[in-house]
Amino acid sequence: MSEILEGGCLCGKVRYQTTCLNSQIKINCHCRDCQKLSGGPYVSLMGIPPESFSVTGETRCFEHEGGSGGRMRAFCCSHCNGRVYGEPEIARGMILILATSLDKPEIFTPNADMFVKSAVPWDRMDETIPKYEGAFPRG
Ligand SMILES: [Zn+2]
Ligand SMILES: [Zn+2]
Repeated sequence: MSEILEGGCLCGKVRYQTTCLNSQIKINCHCRDCQKLSGGPYVSLMGIPPESFSVTGETRCFEHEGGSGGRMRAFCCSHCNGRVYGEPEIARGMILILATSLDKPEIFTPNADMFVKSAVPWDRMDETIPKYEGAFPRG
C-alpha cells in the first residue's frame, strides 16, 4: 500500500496527490450541477483535508451556485477541461476529489448517495448505502 494517492485530469497536465488514505466521506452526488458538469448521471466524490492535498498544473476554476445554496468551486484542467476536484463553500476546509480522476479509482467505495431528489430516472444506485435527499449532513 502506497503512502499517497495520486490522480489527475484526462490529458495529464494537472496532477495531484493526497496523503489522506482513509477518507470517510465517499459520496455519489446526483445533483443537477454534477450531472451538467460531468455529462453523467452522478459523480463520485471523496472528501479530504486541504492540508493533505497538493496539485500541479494549470487549473481553471468555475464558480457556481451549489445545490444547497452555497457557492461551489469546480477546478478543471485548463487544457483538457477535465474536472478534477471541487471546493464547496458550505464545507470549508474540505477538498472534494472526483474519485474517477484517481489513478486507481478502484480504491474508492461510495458509502452514501446525496441529492437523490434530482437523480435522473435511469440512474441506478446501490440500495444498501444511505440516501440523502439533499446535501450530505456534516457532523
Ligand atoms: Zn488535462
Ligand atoms: Zn453534485
